[in-house]
Amino acid sequence: MTQTHYDLVILGSGSTAFAAALRVQELSKTAVMTEERTTGGTCVNRGCLPSKNLIEAANIIHEARYPRYPGLTPAEIRLDFRRLIEQKDEIIHGYRTKKYESLTGGQFTVEKGHAEFVDDRSVQVDGKRITGEKILIATGSRPVVPSIGGLRDVHYLTSDLLTNDDEPIELRELPRSLIILGAGYIALELGQMFHRFGANVTIVKRSEQLLAHGYEPEVGEAIREAFESEGIQIIAGAVTRWVRQDGMAVTVNVETGGQTRELRTEKLLVATGRRPNSDNIAIEKAGVELGKEGQVRVDEFLRTNVPHIFAGGDVIGVDWRIPLDVARERIGSIAPRAIQGNLDPVALLAPRPELERQVRDVLTRAGGRPGHIFNLGHGVLPETPVEALQAVVEWVHGG
Ligand SMILES: Cc1cc2nc3c(=O)[nH]c(=O)nc-3n(C[C@H](O)[C@H](O)[C@H](O)COP(=O)(O)OP(=O)(O)OC[C@H]3O[C@@H](n4cnc5c(N)ncnc54)[C@H](O)[C@@H]3O)c2cc1C
Repeated sequence: MTQTHYDLVILGSGSTAFAAALRVQELSKTAVMTEERTTGGTCVNRGCLPSKNLIEAANIIHEARYPRYPGLTPAEIRLDFRRLIEQKDEIIHGYRTKKYESLTGGQFTVEKGHAEFVDDRSVQVDGKRITGEKILIATGSRPVVPSIGGLRDVHYLTSDLLTNDDEPIELRELPRSLIILGAGYIALELGQMFHRFGANVTIVKRSEQLLAHGYEPEVGEAIREAFESEGIQIIAGAVTRWVRQDGMAVTVNVETGGQTRELRTEKLLVATGRRPNSDNIAIEKAGVELGKEGQVRVDEFLRTNVPHIFAGGDVIGVDWRIPLDVARERIGSIAPRAIQGNLDPVALLAPRPELERQVRDVLTRAGGRPGHIFNLGHGVLPETPVEALQAVVEWVHGG
């Protein structure tokens, strides 16, 4: 008979879900994850792993073009974008098989299909009802599409553009030009990557500051300087009035300082933020409370207002409270890898302003600049002095 009752039922199968399921296994208990897209969720399939893989390739092109050492002659590396995307997909498949899919089938399994609450103890997946002693909501987040006139009729990309070949792919060819709406970390890292691959990139941003939310203002300033010196155009304080498909191109009407201008681009990337996937799981049937932005509200133990229901990861928004020592430990694992130029994407962190301030202080005392560690490891700027990274490692281990 197929099992329908578990110690833990998890909505989602991303990195949060797997972390919880592995812990359940260690405790010799049972868990089931649920997944309506690809097992492994955003990070491995369309987020951290593909982006960091391609960003590193873009970095190699950039470093060859602008070598850091006197005595090295600049060189142009030829890019076969399709082949690069194929190797990215191969890496994702391999990684997903080894680190995710091969782990399931014992103490924990994955039920494929859309999951929704039936009540506070049970969840329905593709018509099948499963119950749990405890439930974890780990449904992640999805790109927000702003209400801009004409956007519905335009071919646009989202922060899901690196989706691998198990799902419909948003982007197959390297665009000659790219306008990005938004300037959060995903917009910025993808913008720099495409620019280094050779696309003409323009970032259009509503507020004056890059990384306006959850970061020290100096970080945005440092990134702006670095980007502009590379040749990425930034239009800040701009309101996008409308967009229009003109054959193979997109026209974007932008207003800045009372003046409007029309920009043309081959591709438009809408990266204006993400929202928690809390509105598609019949959460009201479980009586779980949400915050203003749709995030599941939790306490410092990731408990919702319903005592046996927990939530973690992107679905609780950025106001999450992982213990400081856990966050410090993670930074401790990022910095040495950054020193070796070998960043492991799964070690990276989501924004945590309080900790970022502390790292900033350590960095600046050691001769680094606030923007050198960009969002605690979403990227480390190439010119970050090794001494500054070492100071961060010592700080983490020294308490
Ligand atoms: C381009 C990009 C780059 C990124 N780079 C980094 C980085 O360098 N470092 C970093 O720390 N973070 C990065 N992130 C963010 C990171 O990917 C997320 O923070 C992380 O994946 C969230 O994990 P999660 O388990 O909360 O959710 P997810 O991994 O999104 O998993 C949730 C899963 O639940 C499934 N699901 C949702 N609703 C249902 C339902 N009703 N029924 C069944 N299944 C459902 C979804 O399909 C999804 O697979 C990046 C994100 C993007 C988009």
